Amino acid sequence: MRRNVQLNNVGHLVQPSHADARMLMYQHQRVSERFDVIDLDPYGSPAPFLDAAVQAVSEGGLLCVTCTDMAVLAGNSGETCYSKYGAMALKSRACHEMALRIVLHSLDLRANCYQRFVVPLLSVSADFYVRVFVRVFTGQAKVKASASKQALVFQCVGCGTFHLQRLGKASGDPGGRVKFSAACGPPVTSECEHCGQRHQLGGPVWAEPIHNLDFVGRILGAVSANPSRFHTSQRIQGVLSVITEELPDVPLYYTLGQLSATIHCNTPSLLQLRSALLHAGFRVSLSHACKNAVKTDAPPSTLWDIMRCWEKECPVKRERLSETSPAFRILSVEPRLQANFTIRDDANPSSRQRGLKRFQANPEANWGPRPRARPGGKATGEAMEERRRLMQNKRKELAEDPAQRAARLKMFPCKRFKEGTCPRGDQCCYSHSPPSPGACADASTDCAETPSHSPPGPGSATRPGVD
Ligand SMILES: [Zn+2]
Ligand SMILES: [Zn+2]
Repeated sequence: MRRNVQLNNVGHLVQPSHADARMLMYQHQRVSERFDVIDLDPYGSPAPFLDAAVQAVSEGGLLCVTCTDMAVLAGNSGETCYSKYGAMALKSRACHEMALRIVLHSLDLRANCYQRFVVPLLSVSADFYVRVFVRVFTGQAKVKASASKQALVFQCVGCGTFHLQRLGKASGDPGGRVKFSAACGPPVTSECEHCGQRHQLGGPVWAEPIHNLDFVGRILGAVSANPSRFHTSQRIQGVLSVITEELPDVPLYYTLGQLSATIHCNTPSLLQLRSALLHAGFRVSLSHACKNAVKTDAPPSTLWDIMRCWEKECPVKRERLSETSPAFRILSVEPRLQANFTIRDDANPSSRQRGLKRFQANPEANWGPRPRARPGGKATGEAMEERRRLMQNKRKELAEDPAQRAARLKMFPCKRFKEGTCPRGDQCCYSHSPPSPGACADASTDCAETPSHSPPGPGSATRPGVD
């Protein structure tokens, strides 16, 4: 690193340090010695560095944090997430935004110990990581508001409906002074009012806006003015444009597939569902964190009413539904509104109309987080390739011809067909015959980003081109 600094003639700017990053940050806590910008991007979780970082960043300074431990943040082990970030993660379609909100909660909580608090500038979920940009300020009075910025998440295990419960209440009196008190709850009954099942409890999560739209607008302006500055300008513009369209005051979201899968009906198009919500007088947006997200200020009862109206257009066979299933319970109630699915012009978000590069597909084979760098450096990458090549045949027997492969795939029941949403009909590579009693499809609530069409097992490494 020293040589690098020399070669570039930046000795007056760069001071390399080979030390425990925490020790370095703790040595710079005096106001005069704090850093204007701290960027944490470690292998694995940044959690061990957060306490030092929130103290070592200057007043109003910028703290950037990257988390690559998405499995933990996205709810694969809530208890591990709690130990690192002080919040329970839930398996949810909105897990990527929830991950961002858990990281923000964790940063604010740690800053609060030192009479400091965070103000989010931009929070991005991309590929296999999340990255947040926050400013850190000091102020005992404002720290008092932090409890009321966090919320617990109640999520129904049957239909996925969620409700947020703030941890504290901040109310302004006529004199302009803010009074803080305990929040009242819970926001849900012990059984889900829509489907009768129980709720899981997640959080606390940051429940305030996760971006500063003025800041995002300025970056977008800077990138658009000089697109050749970054190789990824197109993608930056696409993602930031979707971010500017996100409803800032509505945490989390549902997905199109989740809503229709719950009641086993066909999936309306995104434009149809968005139009219905707009016709009913509510706001709706996408989320940069998930394709097909439905972020809306409509109450869940309205959302389910709209889905009930949709189901009437192409009815689901009731005799195929168990009487205790969420689908049966939801569909046995008459909708209280008449949904209008006529497409509205304003239902098509501008980023979509302009055809911006918003949700990119994996750009190359074996795309994803790489293993930790080891002494010996470069060789590991090649060794991995080699191992991958050797293991490939071991896992799935020798290469099979297309007919064998088709026959093998036909042995797996089609998950989408079971949900009544497989658009492929006879063309589908998976079985559409009624599942035999023993064949139990995996019931995991996968994150929406992972295509769940392919069956588990040996075929998954070479899944056919779904989505
Ligand atoms: Zn429910
Ligand atoms: Zn199918």
